[in-house]
Amino acid sequence: MARYTGPSCKLCRREGTKLFLKGERCTSGKCAIERRSTAPGQHGAARKKVEEYGRQLREKQKARRYYGVLENQFARYYDMAEVKEGMTGENLLTLLERRLDNVVYRMGMAESRKEARQLVLHAHFTLNGNKVNIPSILVKPGDVIAVKESSRDSAKIKGLAEGVEGKIKPKWLDVDAANLSAKVVSLPARDDIDFDFEEQLIVELYSK
Ligand code: SF4
Repeated sequence: MARYTGPSCKLCRREGTKLFLKGERCTSGKCAIERRSTAPGQHGAARKKVEEYGRQLREKQKARRYYGVLENQFARYYDMAEVKEGMTGENLLTLLERRLDNVVYRMGMAESRKEARQLVLHAHFTLNGNKVNIPSILVKPGDVIAVKESSRDSAKIKGLAEGVEGKIKPKWLDVDAANLSAKVVSLPARDDIDFDFEEQLIVELYSK
């Protein structure tokens, strides 16, 4: 399945919640959800009875869109989560949280996960000193993610770097704002994910 290239705000309206896909705009009065929270389309405002399957499907789509992953990739994360020890739903979310593009976003070097993905694809980062351009790499404790030396003078990176200090960072990342780097100090836990997912619904969907 191809990556969605349409308007990001439409995805939030479809899920009926803010997915924070557009950086600063998401916390401003310009946010589409603030102005019009109905689902997109001609019948978006109509009241619909949501069946159990519908709720499960929407929760899966919400998580998939929040982290910006394709359907097949998401299913692969689910398979990985299922064989890990512990609760499958929590495992799924914490695996998604460990993606390199999410880490770049969490360390404050991008306004959105989509932007973080672009920065990684354009090889602006290193992982443990090695150039990397794969957004889906899963980080682990001890890994160090940093802006590549030759990218530090780019106007784009300089602009983004100015915002790093003021952003809230998760406790599983030790961010060195001066060096534009972050060390993974532990695996993320469920309560490090500041979004109201009902992951049990996703587990129910895949367990059918
Ligand atoms: Fe979603 Fe952000 Fe658009 Fe608001 S501004 S609808 S949170 S993408």
